[in-house]
Amino acid sequence: MSHRTDLLIIGGGQAGLAAAHTARAMGLTPVVLEATRSMTGSWPHYYDSLALFSPARRSALPGRPFPGDPDGYPTRDQVVAYLTNYAAALDADIRTGHRVERIAAPASGGFEVTTTGGERFEAPMVIAATGAFSRPHRPELPGLSSFAGTVLHSCDYRRPEALDGQRVVIVGGGNSAVQIAIELAGHARVSLATRHPLRFMAQRVLGRDMHLWLQWTGLDTAGWARPLLTGGKGAPVFDTGTYRKAIATGNPDRRPMFSRLEGAQVVWADGTREQADTILLATGYRPGVDYLAGLSNALDADGQPRHHGGVSPTHPGLGFVGLEWQRSFASATLRGVGADARHVLSRLRKQAQADAPAGTRR
Ligand SMILES: Cc1cc2nc3c(=O)[nH]c(=O)nc-3n(C[C@H](O)[C@H](O)[C@H](O)COP(=O)(O)OP(=O)(O)OC[C@H]3O[C@@H](n4cnc5c(N)ncnc54)[C@H](O)[C@@H]3O)c2cc1C
Repeated sequence: MSHRTDLLIIGGGQAGLAAAHTARAMGLTPVVLEATRSMTGSWPHYYDSLALFSPARRSALPGRPFPGDPDGYPTRDQVVAYLTNYAAALDADIRTGHRVERIAAPASGGFEVTTTGGERFEAPMVIAATGAFSRPHRPELPGLSSFAGTVLHSCDYRRPEALDGQRVVIVGGGNSAVQIAIELAGHARVSLATRHPLRFMAQRVLGRDMHLWLQWTGLDTAGWARPLLTGGKGAPVFDTGTYRKAIATGNPDRRPMFSRLEGAQVVWADGTREQADTILLATGYRPGVDYLAGLSNALDADGQPRHHGGVSPTHPGLGFVGLEWQRSFASATLRGVGADARHVLSRLRKQAQADAPAGTRR
């Protein structure tokens, strides 16, 4: 037997929660299908010392302010507590322990969603909110697969003590790479290997957090600002000045990307070699949306969602929330998902109304 509703939301992290809250405010009755037993998304799996790069006042989901000092930078555990409370207060049908295995689009219209447990759900609208960061990206680097030391991804990193006394090379120059490198430098000898020099962006300008300026100036959503913000070279590192200072001490240091790994050795771009214990890949993530593979052309040749501002161009009624740069710089962050959920849901609802037989439209 299959369960029918007007909207299915896949994934119960911040993106799914923001979508569910927005849907309820629009009078819809969403069912949220979440694979795990909690409604905190990936947050519990991030490293222990993680502090948000946006202040509490810019880190709230729709309808519930983030508690505490509005100008403070919440910790990972504060985010977990916030999301737990947010989900508990949500007037929506939340089904944890429901991993979506596949989605089909039957000729009769709408979507048919099947979970790994064999349960079936049907709805005219589906929002995929399973995160931009669910698949750790491990680039193919010369010699990496045969490296004789340990290879970790930043998703494996929790705290520095595990790497005490080691020689560690971190690949990547984003926020996580720099935060981990600096924390780890108190316990290990650390280098950041990056293709481009690090790009720091002031965390605060004229006493205000940069996220506020990005919103005020419209740079957040301006398509032309994207290369400015990413420089085509990855996300900038938000810095109050402490990161720059720490790197200037030389541990961690920043070096041009190594040319290869040989045995347990790193061969640097200038030809020098040295032994390393651990290569830590802070090389980002990709969305995990394999469950959409059965929907013809919903994904591109690389298996990534095709969308315009989060709306599928190939399957009316299908949308996304929480993808990187879906509509703005903030799309895959706490402060961005609410606005994107509103945008996507209003588009999907228009599509559903246009498809509904005359007389049944609301
Ligand atoms: C290291 C790191 C630091 C970050 N720091 C910040 C920060 O400071 N500020 C900020 O705003 N953002 C930050 N982000 C970005 C972003 O806010 C987080 O990644 C956040 O967890 C994304 O939320 P989400 O709901 O989109 O995805 P997730 O948190 O990944 O949640 C997706 C949910 O979908 C579920 N799911 C997956 N597949 C299925 C399936 N097939 N069926 C059912 N359920 C499924 C998962 O179990 C999970 O609960 C950071 C990201 C990383 C990786």
